[in-house]
Amino acid sequence: MKPDKRKIVLIGTGLVGMSFAYALLNQNACDELALVDIDEQKAQGEAMDLNHGLAFSGSHMRIYAAGYECCEDATIVAVCAGVNQKPGESRIDLLRRNREVFRTVIEPVMASGFSGIFLIATNPVDIMTRITQKLSGLPPRRVLGTGTTLDSARLRYLLGNYFSVDPRNIHAYVMGEHGDSEFVPWSQAMLATKPVISILQAHGEFSFQRLQQMEEEVRSAAAKIIAAKKATYYGIGMAMVRIVRAIFGDEHSILTVSSLLAGDYGQEEVYAGAPCVVGDGGVLRVITLPLSPEERDKMDASCRFLRETFQNLG
Ligand code: NAD
Repeated sequence: MKPDKRKIVLIGTGLVGMSFAYALLNQNACDELALVDIDEQKAQGEAMDLNHGLAFSGSHMRIYAAGYECCEDATIVAVCAGVNQKPGESRIDLLRRNREVFRTVIEPVMASGFSGIFLIATNPVDIMTRITQKLSGLPPRRVLGTGTTLDSARLRYLLGNYFSVDPRNIHAYVMGEHGDSEFVPWSQAMLATKPVISILQAHGEFSFQRLQQMEEEVRSAAAKIIAAKKATYYGIGMAMVRIVRAIFGDEHSILTVSSLLAGDYGQEEVYAGAPCVVGDGGVLRVITLPLSPEERDKMDASCRFLRETFQNLG
């Protein structure tokens, strides 16, 4: 059922959060947007700045800075709050600090009486999404992460360029962790309804080696952007809006969000990126693709890494 009022609370008004907010405004993707940040003044300034753009947009959004009590009647709480890695800090220490941030965020959200859907973008996103589910106690299908949604978009962009086809007509996914162990199940990549592998066999000018390079380009894209401009935010902001639209519109769109795998791909107790049907209940179901044995091994390895990382947190 579509909600009467499309209300989002955004927690974390940094670069990612505000790119999401700006894309929401430009795409008229919600009716009400509340901004929450530990830095209240920043949230207020961001709300003012966005409101001054309303006269130039086709949107009638209500935008304001607020406290956690505003989560009570929200359909979606999107979390982009987090701390950055300190010099010399290990990944696991950063993760522990972000878990503490999430304790201070998720508990007051739940105390407000919130019973909607959590959308998590904070990295490492698969682990932070699992932490959110544990802290909130909400049904897993209502707690999802951005997962490999952005990575899949990056892949489709590269494949579209390679085959000179609109990326929207490329159906290819990045799966597993949003990070180093992610992988592309090439056996499932399609151009329209044609397997990409069969195109390589029929047309000598295309090579599998180039596809493997693209997979690596996707895996290293964030590091490359961070080296050039210190952070990535526009792409992820737009990926978040895509997920939000699928939820508000009850679209049943297939997106590679991070969701709890419960037997899917032979995995248990892990949040990872996989094609999911997304609608007004959050993740409606996980689509199980017929992966090759080699691709299944990659999914196993990626999920094992995520499970072990979560366990090592203690
Ligand atoms: P940022 O430093 O610009 O913003 C973080 C914001 O969180 C700040 O405004 C800060 O005040 C706020 N914050 C910190 N602690 C808080 C708390 N306890 N309560 C409320 N707010 C708090 O960082 P950013 O560039 O916007 O990145 C945010 C997160 O998104 C990072 O974890 C980053 O790695 C992640 N990210 C994810 C993806 C993806 O694909 N999922 C892509 C890019 C970035």
